[in-house]
Amino acid sequence: MSLYARPMALLVEELAKLPGIGPKTAQRLAFYIISGSKTDAESLAEAIVQAKEKIIYCSICYNLTEETPCRLCTSVGRDSSMICVVEEPKDVIAIERTREFKGLYHVLHGAISPIDGIGPNDIKVKELLERLRDDTVQEIILATDPNVEGEATAMYLARLLKPLGVKVTRMAHGMPVGGDLEYVDEVTLAKALEGRREV
Ligand SMILES: [Zn+2]
Repeated sequence: MSLYARPMALLVEELAKLPGIGPKTAQRLAFYIISGSKTDAESLAEAIVQAKEKIIYCSICYNLTEETPCRLCTSVGRDSSMICVVEEPKDVIAIERTREFKGLYHVLHGAISPIDGIGPNDIKVKELLERLRDDTVQEIILATDPNVEGEATAMYLARLLKPLGVKVTRMAHGMPVGGDLEYVDEVTLAKALEGRREV
């Protein structure tokens, strides 16, 4: 038998499904929501529904957007000769925060991981190749995570892209090995970007 009233148990259960939210935190959040105003609860619920309904993938870079192509892809101020390849949409935010990169992005939505059965066809590799059909793109910066899967993905892409005559670079070392791009601080990330090397 649950210690909570049924609607409360449901709320705790749903919150506990979120990443990084354990049962204790889920309970704390649920109590917070219940003790707050009805308006606050409705705003929270509405924000979740709206985000889920309105956020789509950009048809070019596969970043999250509310209109496709996204604002980055259509911006005249961006350098369309460079594409920075990242694993997840949150990595775009991390790199944008450095204000160092003025090119475009490509979000793979994952990394190659044979152990997990994730191959090149399971991430947006084909879609990246599509973008190289004309000669606009001169450089591809591989900014996948500095861990086993990220390195494997970067190596795979380098081998695939180099014969196409495009310059392929990898973010410099100095990034914490085994890490996740989104947790790298802005200064380190900016330096890694600046010190990128051809692979
Ligand atoms: Zn886009």
